[in-house]
Amino acid sequence: MPKYVYRFSEGDKDQKDLLGGKGANLAEMTRLGLPVPPGFTITTDACRAYLANGAVPDELAVQVTTALRQVEEELGRELGVAKNPLLVSVRSGAKFSMPGMMETVLNIGLNDESVEGLAEASDDERFAWDSYRRLIQMFGKTVLDIDGEHFSEALDAKKADRGVALDYELDVAALKELVDEYKQIVLEQAGMEFPQDPRAQLDMATEAVFRSWNTERAHIYRRREKIPHDLGTAVNVCTMVFGNMGQTSGTGVCFTRDPSSGRSGVYGDYLVNAQGEDVVAGIRNTLSLADLERLDKKSYDELRAAMRKLETHYRDLCDIEFTIERGKLWLLQTRVGKRTAAAAFRVATQLVDEKLITMDEALTRVTGEQLTQLMFPQFAATTSRDLLTRAMPASPGAAVGYIAFDNDEAVERSEAGESVILVRRETNPDDLPGMVAAAGVLTARGGKTSHAAVVARGMGKTCVCGADALEIDAAAKTVRVAGRDEVLTSSSIIAIDGQSGEVFLGEVPVVDSPVMTYLRRGLETALDTAGDVDTRELVTSVDRIMRHSDAVGRLQVRANADTPDDARHAIHRGAQGVGLCRTEHMFLGERKQFVQNLILADSDDEREKALAALLPLQKGDFVQMFETMNGKPMTVRLIDPPLHEFLPDLTELSVKVAVDSERGELDPADEELLAVVRKSHESNPMLGLRGVRLLLTMPGLIELQVRAIAEAAVERLRSGGDPHPEIMIPLIGSVRELQIARDRAEKVLATVSAESGYELNFPIGCMIELPRAAVTAAHVAEEADFFSFGTNDLTQTTWGFSRDDVESSFVGRYITQGIFGTSPFESIDVDGVGGMVRLGVEGGRETKPGMKMGVCGEHGGDPESILFFHKAGLDYVSCSPFRVPVARLEAGRAAVLSPVE
Ligand code: PEP
Ligand code: MG
Repeated sequence: MPKYVYRFSEGDKDQKDLLGGKGANLAEMTRLGLPVPPGFTITTDACRAYLANGAVPDELAVQVTTALRQVEEELGRELGVAKNPLLVSVRSGAKFSMPGMMETVLNIGLNDESVEGLAEASDDERFAWDSYRRLIQMFGKTVLDIDGEHFSEALDAKKADRGVALDYELDVAALKELVDEYKQIVLEQAGMEFPQDPRAQLDMATEAVFRSWNTERAHIYRRREKIPHDLGTAVNVCTMVFGNMGQTSGTGVCFTRDPSSGRSGVYGDYLVNAQGEDVVAGIRNTLSLADLERLDKKSYDELRAAMRKLETHYRDLCDIEFTIERGKLWLLQTRVGKRTAAAAFRVATQLVDEKLITMDEALTRVTGEQLTQLMFPQFAATTSRDLLTRAMPASPGAAVGYIAFDNDEAVERSEAGESVILVRRETNPDDLPGMVAAAGVLTARGGKTSHAAVVARGMGKTCVCGADALEIDAAAKTVRVAGRDEVLTSSSIIAIDGQSGEVFLGEVPVVDSPVMTYLRRGLETALDTAGDVDTRELVTSVDRIMRHSDAVGRLQVRANADTPDDARHAIHRGAQGVGLCRTEHMFLGERKQFVQNLILADSDDEREKALAALLPLQKGDFVQMFETMNGKPMTVRLIDPPLHEFLPDLTELSVKVAVDSERGELDPADEELLAVVRKSHESNPMLGLRGVRLLLTMPGLIELQVRAIAEAAVERLRSGGDPHPEIMIPLIGSVRELQIARDRAEKVLATVSAESGYELNFPIGCMIELPRAAVTAAHVAEEADFFSFGTNDLTQTTWGFSRDDVESSFVGRYITQGIFGTSPFESIDVDGVGGMVRLGVEGGRETKPGMKMGVCGEHGGDPESILFFHKAGLDYVSCSPFRVPVARLEAGRAAVLSPVE
């Protein structure tokens, strides 16, 4: 019989697939001898079985009974009995943490009888009835899907009736009435009595967790985070401990280092006399760990010891949820903590310095995505900023936008192209779509561990929280700021700084981040201009990790650069060469006329003239590029785009010719041009006369380009330069195409060599961007000195869809339906397009072992794709200059993560 239930004492941290993250870590803490309340985990297998069959597997009920009895025996208490009842919590826990996505039910086991037992055992009648009403409320909302408003309205009415402001001011009699009213709500809204049988409560809550895997919110989060939809969640059943048993009890969240800045030293939030999600919900303002030390030194010391133990054990920043029940500390959860990008880099090098991890491991603790975030610009420190308030910096970045007061507004306005900041009192899981849509999030309540902060950090979205100077009226769509007169509305622009917590009125200009300064201008300048120690430590961490990455990475990193400016930027960011210099811009602008002359030429003489006009211009371009790239390789791709890009638009020209001829002003040249445009019109130009096809059918083109390259190289050589061009032919489908193109190119190189006296033996290779080229790579390699995979076209041609159209047409819907995880133009489709790349590599190297191969499609700068290219055995990736540092980091990570090929 499959094992669906594991006691906490049975599992360990490596069983996240089966026990979920929370369950695996609870098991690990139990093994470490830390104070975890006894309990058990129902596996993701059980959830998957439930989702597949629509019913819980029969064996589950039996195994739950056994596990429950063991817990009962251990504690000498029974679930939901009248005397000293055992109560449990039911919490979801998938492999990857999904903050706020899944449901939690506390106080399971309470009913009309056991509530009396709890009152007696705790010697606190009020507490027992408050726990009971919380159970009915949570159970009603999450298990029976009753709108929470019904319960909050009843609660508010009761407080009004008793003339009190706060929940805990309600007395026993009021709570008893409330329990009756809640039960009535359940009966009316769900059509059933609130279940009195504790085991029924437990089973129903378990099923609700399983079901919640498929809520829309969960789907949105998984899509965004690229978490597979078929993992399922585990369910953790844990003995209840109470943080709401008076002033010696409380509940909190802590981090072994600051997850926001990465500063070393513990960090946490604590709420006295509170239960469950109160801290995370950010409903009341919290105390710090230092406050806890003053309040309860014994528990604090124990907590600090546990934090140290966990950090040493996990060798990473841990976040821990804990509860103190009447002076006794319990740990309810731990995990390797989410952190901001800056914290990731700083914590990684701190742990290296503390000799807890190696530099190689440090590389695996950071990602290219995090580096990208650190490269984002920040607000300029201008004097003219209008500071509205300063609050908790919860997730870094600089965001400017109009105020949006709710989800719908945020989504609608951002879809309409506006930048918006979602401004809420506090956020809850329902706000996820608005948070996704907004440029940043600002809340009036809650700390660094509030929902808004945790989720925003996870998304890499700028967030400032706990801005209690703001009085937000979501219904009226207004914000008032303490001490100021103006009323902000949906048409007000604000700017929020996720690093300093500042909130400004109006637009604020943005400047380079410290990490960008480092990447552009080097460590010294970055350190000189860094404002504080935190920034200096961050920049130093990034530098250390980047240098290590460069040392261990096998993939070289080149850039796609067409102009000397781009090439310079790329070199500053650490590019080792240019992997793709697209030459089409050399035919555009004012040069278009010469190209048109070339197309229209009907004699050799006219053609020669057009080519002769283009030659010095192109040569000049190459001279500049070779100068910039001195000593470094530069792959020059011969012209690629379809012919129509150099000709006037068919419709516009037809209209002009028609109008002009109507007026009797027709220019015969236009008429002639129109005939050519008509003739060369293609229904699918991207599959038409372009790339090598154009090069082979338009006389003189190859010769022009190769001569420009060769003469430019000679000019540089004469001035003592060191040019390294590599000539690349695009859109090869057959080896014969390459053979002809190569012959012609070689003839020109030989001629210019003879003319100049310099031996010009430049490598000649091709792009692999058609399936036919990949499949016949062994042949193509006979004529190629190198391959460069053009994964943009290869994606288009492998899938058979247009790269110019599909992203705006149906990719979004394909993602929603789970056909794509992300757009295949963004991250390589490993199985399909990746399969083509592998074929190309294998074929090419079968003919020429050790043949140089790279990639120059957009995927060359995508973190996940880079790991794939590393594994596929490529020699380099080439990406846009901005992404060069990210690619360098990912190349190093790939070497550590996947050392053997
Ligand atoms: C490609 O197809 O991947 C490529 C780099 O070429 P282009 O994007 O210019 O077609
Ligand atoms: Mg291409």
